[in-house]
Amino acid sequence: MQLLILGTASQLPGKKRNHNGYYLRWLNEGFLFDPGEGTQRQFSYAGASPAKISRIFISHFHGDHCLGLPGIVHRLNLIQVPNPIHLYYPASGEKNIHNLLNGAQLHLRINLEFHPIEEDGIVYETNKYKVESFALNHSVETFGYRITEFPRMNFDKRRLSDLKLKGAILGELEKKGVIIWQDKNIKREDISTKRAGKIFSYVLDTGVCENIDPLIKDATLVIMESTYLSTESKLAKKFKHLSADIAGKYAKDNSVKNLVLTHFSERYTDLSKFEDEVKPIFENVHIAKDLELLNY
Ligand SMILES: [Zn+2]
Ligand SMILES: [Zn+2]
Repeated sequence: MQLLILGTASQLPGKKRNHNGYYLRWLNEGFLFDPGEGTQRQFSYAGASPAKISRIFISHFHGDHCLGLPGIVHRLNLIQVPNPIHLYYPASGEKNIHNLLNGAQLHLRINLEFHPIEEDGIVYETNKYKVESFALNHSVETFGYRITEFPRMNFDKRRLSDLKLKGAILGELEKKGVIIWQDKNIKREDISTKRAGKIFSYVLDTGVCENIDPLIKDATLVIMESTYLSTESKLAKKFKHLSADIAGKYAKDNSVKNLVLTHFSERYTDLSKFEDEVKPIFENVHIAKDLELLNY
């Protein structure tokens, strides 16, 4: 999993913090989450190419999460990416997404596939992974996303060599799950090791919400909003956002492995306070910075 942080600001971007934007390279896909204003430019500043974007997820249609969508689509159109671009977004924003995309003249030469989301559940599934949506608690319809890689069975090379198994017979074992070899039944699981899949969870924007628990349970990496510090918890409640201490508690309660906090209010210039607040609750926290590349 490689995560490029394109922006970490909430409502108001500043000199050091751009609007949201998170680009995840994983599972042979380029998942782009919430392209806020300036996302296209942020790719350039990061020295990264947007050419491998394949799926774009919008959590909700507040400007800091979607105003960069037209720029990104224009760019992908300009370079004529060969693959279709899949767009996932809350169904109540159907009008917003088309307004955004029709805001400038665009001779569309790429294939856009629209996937409005109406409720919790699986939004996309392959034999390698699935993407699920979870409704969150915000002032407009908002979904969090969870990508689960399925467990993988890899052949144990030593066992293969002991049994002198190679070539086409392995393809047959892969397909049927069992073969007869040297007068014995060989099952796939007898000569394979199982590797648990990783899980990525995306939690922006939301107030306290029951759905956060299943959304982030046992996740390898959670990117979560933390608009405020606990000193502003009244504001967090009022505007349906999270404070850092609550985000840390969710991570702790759900056995998360890595927590990345983002979506900081413009009132905070010194973000070290976020780390100070969360570390005693959840040790493995990282305060996101614009343009950094994280590997998990
Ligand atoms: Zn926001
Ligand atoms: Zn919002």
